[in-house]
Amino acid sequence: MPDKNLPDLVIDGARPWNQAEAVSIAIQGGRITGFGAAQDVLGGTRIDLGNMAVYPAFVEPHIHLDKALTQTRGRARSISEAASISRDVLRDGEALEGRVSILLSELVRHGVCAVRSHVNVGPGYGPETIDRIIRAAAPYRDKIELQLVAFAGSDVKPGASTWRNVARAIEQGCIAIGGGTSRRADPGPFVTQVFDLAGEKGCDVDLHVDEHLEPHCHGLEAVLNEMHRSGFSGRVTVGHCCSLGVVPPSHRSELIEQLRELDVTVIALPLTNLFLQGRSDAGLSNAFPSPRGVTPVRELVAAGVRVITGSDNIQDPYLPYGNGDPMIALMVLGIAAQLTEPAELDCLRTAMTSSAATTLGLKRYGLEVGCKADLVGFDQPSFAHTFTMPLSRQLVVLGGNLVVGDPQRGSP
Ligand SMILES: [Zn+2]
Repeated sequence: MPDKNLPDLVIDGARPWNQAEAVSIAIQGGRITGFGAAQDVLGGTRIDLGNMAVYPAFVEPHIHLDKALTQTRGRARSISEAASISRDVLRDGEALEGRVSILLSELVRHGVCAVRSHVNVGPGYGPETIDRIIRAAAPYRDKIELQLVAFAGSDVKPGASTWRNVARAIEQGCIAIGGGTSRRADPGPFVTQVFDLAGEKGCDVDLHVDEHLEPHCHGLEAVLNEMHRSGFSGRVTVGHCCSLGVVPPSHRSELIEQLRELDVTVIALPLTNLFLQGRSDAGLSNAFPSPRGVTPVRELVAAGVRVITGSDNIQDPYLPYGNGDPMIALMVLGIAAQLTEPAELDCLRTAMTSSAATTLGLKRYGLEVGCKADLVGFDQPSFAHTFTMPLSRQLVVLGGNLVVGDPQRGSP
């Protein structure tokens, strides 16, 4: 019979990412209960990492579970074609639960302890999709926390049935309202409706804005204007913000200062940006390479804006590549945004860990006593090595459950 006062699991030889010395980490009841020298931390199943770097587990703040793993339904040659294939995918919820289950099991294996997914709630789909996703995620809930965003479309003006579906989605458990502004000539009225409903329902806002390189930021401006107008008190997140990098510098500085003042999180989504930009309704441009770009991460970081990143589309009509491994999104962001300075590399470290946890409002996240036991371990000598190349995880513990790791790997 196990002693209730002893840990269930002890990770020996673990070097917390911000410390020079390795320690033993005690885990009990899904929480971190102590750090100490190996001889002082008794009991439990033990794993010896031999001085590996250990980080809090990954937080994936932006994917689309309802579309993921559907690229076999057709590879789009243009954005319109991707939207059209997506609508067919969304109306046919047949294989949805199986796809969600496969992707969540992959995310768990990658060491992701929380994931936020946008879910389309247009006419003909929405409430059933949300129920199916929640059902498919149930077997994983001791390892990965799921947050859903009610996505009110990106191209057509949402009708009454869409807004009814959004309101119902909040009652079903969605924690934010989303949608896209890039394909709307005037995003203002849509953004106002999103904020009004979010204020009424007491939920957050998480929008896709300015997913293009045209020299204007109509979507971001609409969001900032609306926040000033309404005094919205929930958390606000804006994804993409690509054109922020191409507007005149003085205008860019002004918008970045407002993002900082209003504590808005910017999500860079480089994987989709680098694949989807350079396409139009006419298809791929013959000019190669087509100009493509991501949000100006270096300027945002220098100004003190919270910048995070996510995988966005995973093997769907918008982006037929990817497996949801956070290390890929982090490395590609580092390349695309040319991140080299210490503060910029620190942004990479937090972009899918602590900063993403703040954006999602996660409780008890981190490498402290009392935090949820969500850890990943890498066999690399330094922080710079760990976040600049995709590495296999030598250790994944989620909710105190050992997901990746070998208990036979040494025992003190
Ligand atoms: Zn997205």
